[in-house]
Amino acid sequence: DPVIVWFRRDLRLSDQAAVVAAASEGPVIPVYILDDESPGDRKMGGASRWWLHHSLKSLDATLREKESRLILRRGKVTDVLPDLVEEVGAKRVYALQHYEPWWAEAEDALSGGLDLCLHDGNYLAPPGSVTTGSGNPYKIFTPFWRALKERMPPSEPMRRPQKIDAPSFWPDSEKLDDWGLLPTSPNWATQMEEEWEPGEEGARKRLATFEDEASRYEGQRNCPSVEGTSMLSPHLHFGEISPATIYNRVKNAGGSVATFLKELGWRDYAQNVILQFPDYPEKNARDRFNAFQWRDFRSSTVRDEFDAWTKGRTGYPIVDAGMRQLWAIGWMHNRVRMIAASFLIKHLLIDWREGEQWFWDTLVDADYGSNGTNWQWVAGTGIDSNMFVRVMAPLSQSEKFDSAAYIREWVPELADLSDDDIPDPPEDKRPDEYPAKLVEHREGRERALEAYRAMKD
Ligand code: FAD
Repeated sequence: DPVIVWFRRDLRLSDQAAVVAAASEGPVIPVYILDDESPGDRKMGGASRWWLHHSLKSLDATLREKESRLILRRGKVTDVLPDLVEEVGAKRVYALQHYEPWWAEAEDALSGGLDLCLHDGNYLAPPGSVTTGSGNPYKIFTPFWRALKERMPPSEPMRRPQKIDAPSFWPDSEKLDDWGLLPTSPNWATQMEEEWEPGEEGARKRLATFEDEASRYEGQRNCPSVEGTSMLSPHLHFGEISPATIYNRVKNAGGSVATFLKELGWRDYAQNVILQFPDYPEKNARDRFNAFQWRDFRSSTVRDEFDAWTKGRTGYPIVDAGMRQLWAIGWMHNRVRMIAASFLIKHLLIDWREGEQWFWDTLVDADYGSNGTNWQWVAGTGIDSNMFVRVMAPLSQSEKFDSAAYIREWVPELADLSDDDIPDPPEDKRPDEYPAKLVEHREGRERALEAYRAMKD
């Protein structure tokens, strides 16, 4: 009898424990189920769906090199998977464990009715396994990382199986093109197509490119004008490469590679947060923020300002460059994500959850744990936070991290301005097409601090 490998955000064959276990057992039926029901409001956003399409195509092609293939089905996984098990007479289902609340629930429900074997491998250490001496999960990053680091490096990655036996007959598969994961008109993904190569091969190439830069990470990572970070986040999110593979490949790069490895630790940390607080991306971790007076999102002025933020028309070049980069390629430099998020939350005084939702829809690396954790961090509403009253000044940030080239790339109407002028175009040099500031820095800052004081009183 065949076994099933159920793929989710683990679209790879290398260092994929479920694939290895299944292949050693007998004929394998690899399956991906597009489930827009189980996640409720958290179904995948537009940019993620674009990525998924290409990643599934790539996985299928890799499987076909091994005379296997990917079977596609659609629907609520707790219905579709048991039906498929019965249809093909599978004796067992192998999968990697996932921690989003809807997946945890589905895994629980499925385990009741079929033999579901869950493996680890999408994180440096299984989420939930890094605990304090008394066995409690960590709430704060620094001690979490200290404990996780003790267990590093992760074990050497598993090789992809030599052979994946085909079953005696293949069940029907839906057609990927029928799933409508790609934009139709307008096709907003043209720059994404140029920038990214979703799939295992693309992930390997990114890692190879980054290997040469890894030792210089610390000095480069905050400068958006330089390609100093790995850009592996969407590949990691979709599980096209394992963190253990990345860790082991770069750990001896020297220089400041330790700073990079710690960033991988943040990714693990975020999963530990949603394991403890499943609704973290939706709820202020600090309750007192429930009384915070955000500006009213039903007001058309506030809506218009939010809209200007999404389109990169706030009048702050660094914010606008970031938001336009996000729209164009589905990714934004980390330093700029912090500046743009802080601007929305503090200068525009708009609830962080509106921004979180926008990122959810537009990032190719949109991740339930990482997105929620980072938004709450910037807002100062989270368990391991920043303080709300630390208001980032977009203009000095922009100068400090030398963003002129970055702004020139993404806000072309400012391209002719000098390096000195471009982060904050003087009134007489600002081109007509470029909008005036939605709010002055000091005014925005004061308004935010005032709202914070009002909440506290
Ligand atoms: P590198 O600097 O090369 O880091 C390597 C890897 O470490 C990344 O690929 C990522 O997997 C992980 N990592 C790095 N920083 C963080 C972090 N702060 N938190 C969690 N993991 C991290 N990252 C996401 O993967 N998905 C998100 O939805 C997401 N939303 C964010 C929202 C906001 C408001 C902010 C400020 C940050 C967000 N991040 C998110 C974190 C971070 O910006 C990205 O992981 C990073 O920019 C990806 O680029 P990179 O692969 O070049 O990172």
